[in-house]
Amino acid sequence: MKQHFDAIVVGAGPAGCACGLTLAKSGLSTLIVERGKFAGAKNMWGGVFYGPLFHQLFPDFWEEAPVERYILHHRISFLTADAALSADFFSSKFGRKPYNSFSLLRAKFDRWFADKAQQAGAIVASGLQADDLLWDGSRIVGIKAGGDELPANVVVACDGVNSILAEKAGLRKRLLPQDMKQGVKEVIQIPRQMLEQRFNLSGDEGVAWEFIGSFTKGIPGGAFIYTNKDSLSIGIVVQLSALIKNKIEANDLLEEFKEHPEVARYLSEGELVEYSAHLIPTSGRAKMPELFADGFLVAGDAAAFCLVTGLNLEGSNLAMASGMAAAEAVIQAKKKEDFSKKSLSSYSHFLKQSLVLKDLETFRKAPKFLENPRIYNVYPGLACDMAEKIFTNDGRPKKKIWKQLKRSMKGNVSLLQIASDLYNIKKAL
Ligand SMILES: Cc1cc2nc3c(=O)[nH]c(=O)nc-3n(C[C@H](O)[C@H](O)[C@H](O)COP(=O)(O)OP(=O)(O)OC[C@H]3O[C@@H](n4cnc5c(N)ncnc54)[C@H](O)[C@@H]3O)c2cc1C
Repeated sequence: MKQHFDAIVVGAGPAGCACGLTLAKSGLSTLIVERGKFAGAKNMWGGVFYGPLFHQLFPDFWEEAPVERYILHHRISFLTADAALSADFFSSKFGRKPYNSFSLLRAKFDRWFADKAQQAGAIVASGLQADDLLWDGSRIVGIKAGGDELPANVVVACDGVNSILAEKAGLRKRLLPQDMKQGVKEVIQIPRQMLEQRFNLSGDEGVAWEFIGSFTKGIPGGAFIYTNKDSLSIGIVVQLSALIKNKIEANDLLEEFKEHPEVARYLSEGELVEYSAHLIPTSGRAKMPELFADGFLVAGDAAAFCLVTGLNLEGSNLAMASGMAAAEAVIQAKKKEDFSKKSLSSYSHFLKQSLVLKDLETFRKAPKFLENPRIYNVYPGLACDMAEKIFTNDGRPKKKIWKQLKRSMKGNVSLLQIASDLYNIKKAL
């Protein structure tokens, strides 16, 4: 007879692994189904993960998790075609346990995380795709995968941004291009010593560096470079609908970014070892689907839980927190042996207690604000133009800075528009 599981978790990303691990630790029979050859095989992200929540699951994670570097420097740069204006924030506090954030490579990390869920008692079935849901009337009672029917009290969909299962459960529609950003990323290998010299790093210190500017050709989005032990994760994240409308390939924007003189010198002599592309749900709370049905819950990117403020891109954190909240709801339901929609609605309660719904609510206006084209095609240019004027010495008498600013603004942006944008920053962030 086939095993009947308390829970089947679909997807072994951060949401699925956190969910499966929490369920297994509580003694529930748990199957994690992952379509990749191994967890992480098909996955990508920029690469910054966050310490405090992870610490709840693994109190000594720094001893064993495949951390690349601890992020002690946060850098932001505004780019024009041939100039860069940058700010670097360093804090030694970020180097203290349990660490603020750190860089990771997913192929290593997801595999490690799935192994941990397995050690806690979950069964991890890799190379197996969930194709459909099993129904008993209006109740979901398992999944169909690899030609088999796998029964369970609850299915938790952690199957990422294009969640087929949440669609099949009738909880959400397919996201539209305006609800997503396209990410493309490369991993560029650089000898460790060379990397540390270039970025002025020692030991396991790392940098998270974000960029906005002319390289996106006015398309909302930006680029990033994160340092790993002996490689760089470099990529761009841009609005999908604007790429389609303007017939621009994200990869071409990444190539342009890599050729910028401020960027290229950090990449020279590097070897491209990985290329990947992935979508990100970026409409925040506005596109959150229904989160539960009879015998069914949805977590992580599948539930569009991703925080994008222009200053942070936190998907992994919300994925992990929602996976843990979903597990708590299943554990409560198991105690009552009631897996109905009403019983599983405690998921909302656990989500409200966690950072997920609070962060999405606090920054609910950020997605709209980030559509403002001036953020990408006016302000970076203005900032670089001003810096150039201030630091240029052409042997002639200098002009007052205010006069220079007015000249740079002319034809690009009015004082009224700046005031309105500042007001919108206040509302969104
Ligand atoms: C370019 C880019 C940069 C990013 N940078 C960051 C960052 O720096 N920090 C951050 O916190 N977040 C970042 N994110 C967002 C982050 O990657 C996601 O929010 C996070 O991975 C979501 O986790 P998840 O577990 O919900 O989904 P995923 O990580 O997408 O995992 C879903 C899993 O489900 C599996 N799966 C899918 N369908 C099926 C099926 N039918 N059957 C079986 N298995 C299935 C997939 O193979 C995958 O393993 C970035 C994303 C991108 C694209």
